[in-house]
Amino acid sequence: MKNTPVILWFRQDLRLRDNPALIAAHETGCPIIPLYILDDHNSGEWKQGGASRWWLHHSLKALNASLDHKMVFEAGDPLPLLKKLMKETGATEIYWNRCYEPWRIARDKNIKEALEGAKSFNGSLLFEPHTVLKEDGTPYKVFTPFYKKGCLGRAPKPREPQAAPTNLNLYSYRDGTLDDLKLMPEIKWYKQMEQEWQPGEKGAQKRLRIFIEEGLHGYKEGRNIPAGINVSRLSPHLHFGEISPNESWYAAQEAMIVQGCEKDGEHFMSELGWREFSNSLLYHFPNLPRNNLQTKFDAFPWASDDKALLAWQTGQTGYPIVDAGMRELWQTGYMHNRVRMIVGSFLVKNLLLHWHHGEEWFWDTLLDADLANNSASWQWIAGCGADAAPYFRVFNPVTQGQKFDPNGEYVRRFVPELGKMPDKFLHNPWDAPDNVLQYAGVSLGDKYPKPIIDLKASRELALSAFSQI
Ligand code: FAD
Repeated sequence: MKNTPVILWFRQDLRLRDNPALIAAHETGCPIIPLYILDDHNSGEWKQGGASRWWLHHSLKALNASLDHKMVFEAGDPLPLLKKLMKETGATEIYWNRCYEPWRIARDKNIKEALEGAKSFNGSLLFEPHTVLKEDGTPYKVFTPFYKKGCLGRAPKPREPQAAPTNLNLYSYRDGTLDDLKLMPEIKWYKQMEQEWQPGEKGAQKRLRIFIEEGLHGYKEGRNIPAGINVSRLSPHLHFGEISPNESWYAAQEAMIVQGCEKDGEHFMSELGWREFSNSLLYHFPNLPRNNLQTKFDAFPWASDDKALLAWQTGQTGYPIVDAGMRELWQTGYMHNRVRMIVGSFLVKNLLLHWHHGEEWFWDTLLDADLANNSASWQWIAGCGADAAPYFRVFNPVTQGQKFDPNGEYVRRFVPELGKMPDKFLHNPWDAPDNVLQYAGVSLGDKYPKPIIDLKASRELALSAFSQI
């Protein structure tokens, strides 16, 4: 029946291009009810954090505008809400793209069992977790074989991106508005984010274009420089599905040929591969966000130190690159990958604080907070994950700063009180002679904190604790 509407339930696929569920719904020829449900009912402790909610609000606003303001917004438990919408509109079919967080899988399974007309598609991953398994049918735990043998070897080639359908037949149905979801925070801490980001499909397309034109060439090396231009900053757009990984993947492939930057393109594609790997780990090990994959870490003697945790969260540790990273996160909702590794190692291996503290802080403050990437990366940093950094790899924030921010551009941007410090002492101001500190206007312990911990002693303590388990 061409007049019976179908429901298109948007979730982490807030786009019109290359959206398999939307294409399928459109191909029915029936009017489409575009729906978003804010589900804080089933998410348990993984309710979206503050920064994510700010992004989501703007992303939904942009999507609604490109759907002639016909979106229906609801909040609550999806099953009864879907039943109600079906009853009121006569819709019998629901289309959605699959999500892979354990709580969403459980919820969707339940909905599929309860509602006959539910149809799901893959719109968020290049290689769905159940399609990338070892020859014996078990999941990979190590990235390189996962990617090379699994994804690039046995798994089917990723779908080529498809255009957005034209002349969408949208159903008019009055119901809640976006503002009813109350996603925006009461305190306006997001001023700088507004300047730095453009949530939504258009912003995502723009980011990809700029990255391919200006950032991809030199990505392999340049991606380690936090002040550089070589990273894509696509992560929040990918997380919310404003752009498909397929479009990013094939754009890099094309650029490899057109620009002749094969190594850079391949490296970028392998980073998208890490995203697939994290999703595969979460899918096959649903306790990844909470339980150490290597259970011997359950006996690790973590410290408890609220003061140190607060210094870390607020960028007041006295280690400039750590503080720059934590302040970048607070101000912009993003942190460069190299710096995420440095601040993560500092929290876990110098302060000896449980990786859960880092995971939770990132969850609330990152615009790209993603259950798979965040928990897999924290386990990697702590050394307790699959294919993790070995426990003895402790990032030294001074040498990392000197190597990856040699001119101090990044640190000076986020730690302006060290702005006049000469490069030689920027990453270790405590080594500067008094006259240099005076010249730079830095008084340690007053204008900028003294280091909250001794690097060498804390490293040794960590190594001895790690070697005992
Ligand atoms: P690019 O270098 O341009 O990479 C392109 C895309 O590839 C990224 O957008 C991302 O989707 C994917 N990607 C790149 N590196 C990784 C990686 N190591 N693991 C998984 N996917 C990757 N990423 C998130 O998206 N959400 C998180 O919550 C998150 N938490 C992290 C926590 C820690 C402690 C660490 C060390 C890393 C975390 N990452 C997370 C991974 C990585 O830091 C970000 O994906 C990356 O910095 C995003 O910047 P970009 O888009 O400019 O990256």
